[in-house]
Formats: sequence, structure tokens, C-alpha cells
Amino acid sequence: MSGEPPKKKRRYSGSNMTGESAESLRQQRCHLPIYSARGRLNLEIRKTSSAIIIGETGSGKTTQIPQYLYESGMAREGMIACTQPRRVAAITVAQRVAMEMGVELGKQVGYCVRFDDMTSPGTKIKYMTDGMLLREAILDPLLSKYAVVILDEAHERTIHTDVLFGVIKDAQQKRKKGKACPLKVIVMSATMDVDHFSTYFNNAPVLYIEGREHPIELLYSSMPQSDYLFAAIVTVFQIHQDEPPGHDILVFLTGQEEIEAMLKSVKDIAKDLPSDCPQLLVCPMYAALPPGQQLKIFQPTPAGSRKVILATNIAETSITIQGIKHVIDTGKVKAKSYQPGSGLDLLKVQWVSKSQAWQRTGRSGREDSGTCWRLYTENQFQELRENTIPEIQRCNLSSVVLQLLALGIPNILRFDFMDKPSAESIINAVDQLNLLAAVEKKDKVQLTSLGKKMAIFPLEPRLSKVILMAKEYNCLEEILTIVSLLSVESVLFTPHNKREDAHAARKKFTSSDGDHIMLLNIYRAYKAVKGNKQWCFENFINMRHMRNALDIRHQLREMCVRAGLPIQSCGPDTSAIRKCISSGQFMNTAELQREGEYVTLDRRQSVSIHPSSCLFQCKPAYVLYNELVYTTKCYMRNICVVDPEWLYEAAPTYFKRRYGGKNR
Ligand code: ADP
Ligand code: MG
Repeated sequence: MSGEPPKKKRRYSGSNMTGESAESLRQQRCHLPIYSARGRLNLEIRKTSSAIIIGETGSGKTTQIPQYLYESGMAREGMIACTQPRRVAAITVAQRVAMEMGVELGKQVGYCVRFDDMTSPGTKIKYMTDGMLLREAILDPLLSKYAVVILDEAHERTIHTDVLFGVIKDAQQKRKKGKACPLKVIVMSATMDVDHFSTYFNNAPVLYIEGREHPIELLYSSMPQSDYLFAAIVTVFQIHQDEPPGHDILVFLTGQEEIEAMLKSVKDIAKDLPSDCPQLLVCPMYAALPPGQQLKIFQPTPAGSRKVILATNIAETSITIQGIKHVIDTGKVKAKSYQPGSGLDLLKVQWVSKSQAWQRTGRSGREDSGTCWRLYTENQFQELRENTIPEIQRCNLSSVVLQLLALGIPNILRFDFMDKPSAESIINAVDQLNLLAAVEKKDKVQLTSLGKKMAIFPLEPRLSKVILMAKEYNCLEEILTIVSLLSVESVLFTPHNKREDAHAARKKFTSSDGDHIMLLNIYRAYKAVKGNKQWCFENFINMRHMRNALDIRHQLREMCVRAGLPIQSCGPDTSAIRKCISSGQFMNTAELQREGEYVTLDRRQSVSIHPSSCLFQCKPAYVLYNELVYTTKCYMRNICVVDPEWLYEAAPTYFKRRYGGKNR
């Protein structure tokens, strides 16, 4: 490994953070279940153009197969891409593989995720999100840089992976015809409906990797739990008191807030345990966690203590954690579901599918026998659906349709999807893009010149449109800031016990025009103090999210410069900014009713202002929202005050249709 510091200043380095020796890493590789199969795998993969590989989580698919292919010379004619549905997985795996190969991250082994490209011209193994590979396909539909594309975690059936299936099949056929270097496709997963996949990929052979299975004891709740978080806490302490130390626990929860809340409760309770109780180390694991903290879960548990990992479904198959003996499955997951009409996807807590429940169970029997505690009854389990519905059948498709059109797919209804989305959802997506003036419907649907430009940005179409419209309102400087801040986790940091203090500190940034302008004020103040840490602390601003936003802003700005957009500022005139936002988000608006409640303009759905909004105490007549979240009721989050005239100007036909209908 090179002793030089990395050239670019990055959060991740290729250095061996866990301090493991090369010999120990080599031995770990040799002990993986996949190791003994590598000769057969190389041989089989060499023979066919497509293959399907099935192996239990932790068997070594993601980290080893790209290395085997590289070692056997399959990267001579092009790179090996390995896609992941999650950016964290792409990053941590690339880092692990760079370490195993003893190379600096970003050289032979790199990763590429939205707004973060850690590759170089010498990169041979590239871990990337499925979304990034799809974007690359827009610029190069033949994917000519790649000799092998591995579609990993295929069972997750993310919208991007599903679209990639069709795009890659097409590239493979075209490259065959054009006598270019053939494109090898490997689909990998821990579990999946093998026949369905094999048939779709022209009867591709299925290669199984034998895992090491150990018996798992399955325990169900005797009655349904009304509060699964509480049940999970009780179960953690029951295990902690009854079981020997070293037997680590993995708890499946639904999201960051829930994990942070449980983390606090468990730590508080642990303080009062008898002194002879083993020490309890609690680690959170979710996608937005800082990378340094994520690495903690991979470190061995110190002797005499017990590790409890509180994770989202990221720990189902995407990452492997060693030493887990007990799994606590709440049976819940936060997943996207489509909200017809509004063009928005909603994140909602839902029941897992049976196959997800089995994946979670399997995490406990990796190295030895284990126990899975299901916090639901056996009857409840029987009622779960067999498999998770592919995202493409439950999410808004406007982004994907825009990308497919940019890829030059002539008739999306006839695109070779593995499982087709409904014609209705495709037509809805086209309608939304039409409202945004991104497509026009002549004899066939095609992108307008605005639509072509929108497809360049790795953003939802509504936000890409806002960026492109900023030219009309001379406010791209401000819009870049707002869009970047909307693209990261909230920069507002509101600890449970200091809610009042946080609100008081934030008062100076609030605006009667709404949260978008407040975000702009925060950004300006942050820049003025040059990102001072103490300032962030005093003002309850999450510095890490702020830095991410700055990073994104920088990249979006470069994209705008390349697209020839003038980077101008509108000065103190916030109405220009709000008009510009309305031009892309007029569909996500609500109107105040006489009774003091809001209803959305599209579906006349009752909604409320989210308590985190700076407009929470106000009642503007018309507001635009960036997202809807369901908890106890439906809340609008990130809101800005708008004038109905602007909405009408942004989409006259849309509003005429609605109000024409309403008044008649
Ligand atoms: P699969 O893709 O089959 O689920 P992986 O290739 O991801 O398996 O993981 C194989 C093994 O590599 C894991 O069991 C674990 O021991 C090790 N491993 C993977 N990622 C890391 C990491 N970031 N840190 C430490 N060990 C890791
Ligand atoms: Mg894997």
C-alpha cells in the first residue's frame, strides 16, 4: 500500500482502518464459503454471457466475485461494475475490497455514488449504486466501458435495478450484433425467485454457493404487540440478563429517528444494571450514519461485553455483521409507496414480506446456532405477503420514464420489464412530465428540449425543472442552495430534550415566506462564519448534513455551468425564488380552508403543517410543500408561501382543468 496521503481530501481512505494485517485479510478470504467454489465459478462464468449466482448473505458474493473475475483476467477489455441498491453498501464494500487487495481506494478499486465519484482512469473494479449505472447508460447505452456488469442484491428489486435489467439486456444484444467486446451480466442475490430471473435472462445458468447454515431457534410473540419499540427494548434486556456475554444482538427497526430513540432508552436503562452484568455496547446502523460510526459495527466486540446493533433493513442482506447470535425482528420496515396524483412517493412503516422475515432470521445463524425473536405472532407471520412487491410496481415513475426517454427507448409501454408496472402508472408519469413541459405527445411521446436538459440532473424531475427555470427568474444562486439543502437529511438538529432551545436558536433564520427561505438564511449565515463548528453547535445545525449539502451544491453548480446556465442572484427579492420553485412544484400545493385546515389542490386531501416548519404557527392561504409524511396524520414538510397566481402561471391548463371542474 502506498504511504502517501490520498490526493483528494475524502472521508474515506484506502488505508487499513481496522489495522488488520495483509496475512489476516488473506486468511479471512480463504475461509469464506465462496472460496472453495471459485474455480468452478470462474469456469462457469467464462462459458456464459449471463449467469445468476445465489448464496447466503455473508458467503462472499459482493466482496469476492469481482476480485475473482479481475484475477482471472476478465477486466482486460473493460471494467467490472458491481451495482448496489444502497450507497453505503457501495462505499463500505469498495473500501473493504481495496483493503483486501492492498490498494488505495479510488485506484484499481473504486466506487461511484450520487454526488461522489471515487474512481480514476485505472479503476478496474467499480462498486456503484444502480442509479449511477443507469445514469451512465443515458450517455452510453452500450455501456462500452464495462466488460462485466454485476447486478447485486437483485432480490431488492429497486426501481433502478429493474430498469437496468432491460437496459443491460438490450446493450448485451446490441454489442453482440456489433461484434464489440461482449458484455457479461451476472445477477446476484441471497434469495430470489430463480426461475423468473433465469427465464428473463435467456435461461441463464444458476450457480449456487453453499453456505454454512446453523440451526436457528425461532420464537414468536404470544400476542400481537401494540408497541414494537417497547417490546424490542424488553427483549434486548431479557437476552442481556439471561445469555452469556459475546452473544451479540441485531435489532431490525424502521428508521433513523426510531433507532436514535431506542439507542437512548437502551443506554439509559443500561446505566442502572447491576455491576456484575456484562457491559452493553449499543451501535446504530442506518444509511445516513457518518461513515466512521458505521465502521464501528464491524469491529469485534471486546471480551466480556455484548454488542447490540440497532439497524434498518440495510442489515438484511446489504452488509454482513459478524458475531450475531440473536436477531430481534420487529416485522416492520419503512418503504416507499406511491401516492397517486401528487407525483410523490410516501415513506411509510409497513409489514415486511415473509422472504424479508426469513432473511432477518438468517442473520442469527451465520457462525453458530442462533435465535430469532419475532415480535409478532405466528398467525401474523402467516398473513404476511410472500415476497416484497418490486418498487417499480409501487412507486412514482416520472423519474424513470424521463430516464428511459433520455435513453431513447421509443415505447415505454413495450419496454422489456421483468415485471411490468401498470400501464396506468406509466401514463400517469408521462402526464406529470407533460405538465412539467418535459415531454410532448405528438404521434409518440418524446422529450422536449427542456426535458432533455432535465434528464442531465440526478434529481427528481420537479427539482430539475426548478433548476432549469431559475434562468427566467435570475435566481440560480439561491435555487442551487435550496435544492442542495432539500437533497440531504435535515440540517436542523432538534434533540428531544432541547426542543425549546433549538427553536429559540433558530428564530433568527426563520422567514414568514417559509422553510425554503429559512434554509437559504441558514446557508448564508453558515457561509459567513465559514462553517464554524461552535456556531453549528450553538445554532442546532447538523454540520455533517450541511457539508454534504455544500458538496452537492458544488456539483450541481458545475453541471449548470456545463449546461450553460447563468449563475445569477436575485438579491433580496424572495418572490422570484418562490415563483421559480412554484414552476416545478405547482402540483404539490395546498389551500387553507375556512375551518383552518389545509387540503391539497390535487386530490383535496386533508393535510397539516409539520411541526418542524417555521410556518407551524402561521396559516398562509396557499402553501407549496416539498414532501408529505404520514405519522399520526398527513403532514406537509418544507413549506413555502405561494401566490395562487404564480401556480396558475406555471401550469395554466392544469389549474384550468381543476378549477373549471370545481366551479361548474
Ligand atoms: P455477501 O455479498 O455474500 O453477503 P460479502 O462479500 O458482503 O458477502 O461479505 C463476505 C464477508 O466479508 C463477510 O462475512 C464479512 O466477514 C466480510 N466483510 C464484508 N464487508 C466487510 C467490512 N466492511 N468490514 C469487515 N468485514 C467485512
Ligand atoms: Mg452482498
